[in-house]
This record gives sequence, C-alpha cells and structure tokens, in this order.
Amino acid sequence: MQQDIQVTIVGSSNVDITALMRRLPGPGETVLADSYQLSPGGKGANQALAAQLAGAATEFIGAVGNDSHADIALGQLKDAQVVLDRVARSAKPTGVAIIQVDSAAENSIAVVSGANATVDSDAVAEAGQLHGIVVLQGEIPASGITAAMDAATGRVVLNLAPVIELDRAHLLAANPLVVNEHEAALILQQLDASDAPTNDAEPVIAQRLLEHGLASVVITLGANGCLVAERGAPIQQLPAIKVKAVDTTGAGDAFTGALAARLAHGDSLAQAAGFAGRFAALTVQGHGAQSSYPRHLADI
Ligand code: ADP
Repeated sequence: MQQDIQVTIVGSSNVDITALMRRLPGPGETVLADSYQLSPGGKGANQALAAQLAGAATEFIGAVGNDSHADIALGQLKDAQVVLDRVARSAKPTGVAIIQVDSAAENSIAVVSGANATVDSDAVAEAGQLHGIVVLQGEIPASGITAAMDAATGRVVLNLAPVIELDRAHLLAANPLVVNEHEAALILQQLDASDAPTNDAEPVIAQRLLEHGLASVVITLGANGCLVAERGAPIQQLPAIKVKAVDTTGAGDAFTGALAARLAHGDSLAQAAGFAGRFAALTVQGHGAQSSYPRHLADI
C-alpha cells in the first residue's frame, strides 16, 4: 500500500479547543464564555487532509497521545482514508491548541505541543522510508524536519510555519519553500544573518531567497493570492479567487496540501499554485479548518 503513496506529510496534529466569548479575559481575569467546540487541527494534519481531498494518495506521519483527544485529532483523516499506519502513540498527551475568540473575531491562542514534540529525528528514523512528495512544517522539532528531508526520496515541500531555526543546507533544499509574507521576511532575515527585518516588497524578498540558493519559493498573500518564484524564470503573481471570506483558519494549510497533491500529479509549480489558490478560496467560505475543506474535486 505504502509504495502507492504520492504525498507523505510528517508533522503535527492537534485538537483545537475553541471557546467563543464576548470579550477576551485580561491577565488574572475570568470571563464566562458562550460556547466551545473541539475540532481537529495542527498544520500537518490539516495539510494531509487537503492533499488527500485534492486527489493524492496521502500518508500522515506524526504522534498522538493515549487519550480521547487522539480520536478527535485523527478523525477526519481516518474518514478521508489518509494512511495513518505510522502515527505513533506517545506517553505525552495529544497536542492541543486552546483558542479564545471574542465577538470581533480577535483571538488569543496557547498551543501545547504534547506528542508533537516527540516527532524528532529518532521518530522519523523509526518510521523508515518516506514515499512521494514529502511535506513538512515548523510545528515539530527541527531534528524531525531535517531527518525527514534526509529520508525523502522525492521533492520536499517545506512550509516553515512557524519559522523555526533550521540549518542553512536543509532550509535551502526546500523545493518549494511555501510561506506567507511575514514568514518569508523572517526567513530572509535568518539567511542574511541580519539583525533587522527587511522592508523589501514581496517580489524582492522572493528574488533574494532564490539568490541565497533556493530552487523555488511560493509566498502566499491572503486575499491577494500568491507569488511563484523559480530559479531562472520570471516571478509570477497569481491573483486569489474573489470570494466572500468568513473564516480563513487553515487556508494556508489547504493551499500547501493541495499544492503538494498537484505537484505529485506532475503539474508545474505555477499550475499547482493556481489549483491550490482555487482550493484554498473554497475553504475560506466555510467556518473552521478541516471542516471547511472541499470534499468534491468537481467544485474546484
Ligand atoms: P496563512 O494563513 O498561512 O497566512 P494566507 O492567508 O496567505 O495563508 O492564505 C493562503 C492562500 O489561501 C492564499 O494564497 C490564497 O490563495 C487563499 N486565500 C486566503 N485568504 C483568501 C481570501 N480572503 N480570498 C480568497 N483566497 C484566499
């Protein structure tokens, strides 16, 4: 079965515990919330669901706890038939994001990594061979990311979100690096070994990232679409699809997962980014992350 896998995602899976309230509490304060919900999240799991729904046979490799949250974290992946054989059960709890949202949609979020912190180089070595396009994010230890890059036999899509410290050689081996405009500026600052963040416009940032040695970069720009930059080719700006956005949670993950799925099918980077933009535009029209991902490819 695993030999047929087209996209392998090594990353985080969480349960998002979201409490809705009129206003956020200040330090030391208690407020009564109106309601709460439990939903699956984590960039790795979100991207795995997106890749599978975008048409690629997908495996998710990560870790959850021996607790009731594990079933919630993996539930939608299981329903969508993402391969989960190599998800480890850890003595640590399933990762949780504790999210408070007020009536103006302002939020504050605390993430407890839990089992995700065990997805390190040892865990990746134990998992063994990684098939197809390998997709990684910044929510597992850096040693897990670099070990997965070393074990990858195919192209590596690196969504370094959040931006964590990676050695230069591994960072530059991403093809593509997929990040939003804030993350792109932080990564350029790392590569420049500069004390101050850059003020450059996004196309200049993309160009400078290529000059550092990356083969390709995709910078997502929310409602402004994305930039596609490849060594030796002009930078392309792809506009977003105009839609009425109600909740952009998980849009970046939908984009990255769908991009990887289309690369696995043989699309060029620009074609894959165009598809990913259409896929992500559908997700911002529904509430939540995984629950808003389109279930029917014919919609795209
Ligand atoms: P992140 O959440 O990681 O910051 P972005 O906000 O850049 O990611 O969104 C990722 C992609 O999702 C964008 O490149 C775009 O294709 C799509 N997208 C996000 N917001 C909208 C929107 N309001 N309308 C249409 N597409 C959107």
